[in-house]
Amino acid sequence: LASKEVKKEASIVRISDTLAIGGKELVVMAGPCSVENEEQIIESAIAVKAAGAQMLRGGAFKPRTSPYSFQGLEEEGLKLLAKARETTGLPFVTEVIDPDSVDLVASYSDMLQIGARNSQNFALLKKVGQIDKPILLKRGMSMTIQEFLMSAEYIMSEGNQSVILCERGIRTFETATRNTLDLSAIPVLKSKTHLPVVIDPSHGTGNYRYIAPMSFAAVAAGADGLIIEVHPDPEKASSDGPQSLKPKKFQALMDKLRLFAEAA
Ligand code: PEP
Ligand code: MN
Repeated sequence: LASKEVKKEASIVRISDTLAIGGKELVVMAGPCSVENEEQIIESAIAVKAAGAQMLRGGAFKPRTSPYSFQGLEEEGLKLLAKARETTGLPFVTEVIDPDSVDLVASYSDMLQIGARNSQNFALLKKVGQIDKPILLKRGMSMTIQEFLMSAEYIMSEGNQSVILCERGIRTFETATRNTLDLSAIPVLKSKTHLPVVIDPSHGTGNYRYIAPMSFAAVAAGADGLIIEVHPDPEKASSDGPQSLKPKKFQALMDKLRLFAEAA
């Protein structure tokens, strides 16, 4: 169902009445890794909106590598994201980590994220395939492109065709970056599927310094969108501070991306 052989024209995934991913316009989703408290998420939402982001991101259920790390505010986090949406008008994407909480997360959010660690959780993929909300499917850290597309099939074969693919870096021998952002996944995926492709340079590099160059490269390679971690005070973040941009740096990136889009 994801294959270009089945459907030649590029898919446009609708997020709201006024926003879609896969069209001409680059869609930027930005916000903190985790929702931490009301002030933090509202401040983040206002900042990313002012910079020109079209969507807010923030984790309420966090799939942490260690069980002793911050696990997220859960439903309280979803409520705070909804409040941030009310304040700014930005729709939001948030992660769902198990089949039992899909309906709860879907009742609050505009798009559901399947994280890298759950990208082959077939029960979860099937469950989000049965709901009527767009799904941002991240590539697993050790996943081939073919396996990535098969995970999309798990969702689509249950009925939900609104799938967006997200490259977020894969594991290689290189340790200078957190992951190796596979930008060649953009043209490769575009040759195989009609689904929109989004790049996550934050998890892809693990270092805020590398986010801007990788964002420009992603746009040049044909990405339909970017998902970027932005935190008002990265040093104090509960998760992923080292890869989070301060609002000022994010604003500068968005200004450059605008120039880039005009030149293209
Ligand atoms: C995230 O978006 O914060 C996240 C946990 O991403 P990934 O699943 O790509 O590691
Ligand atoms: Mn994160």
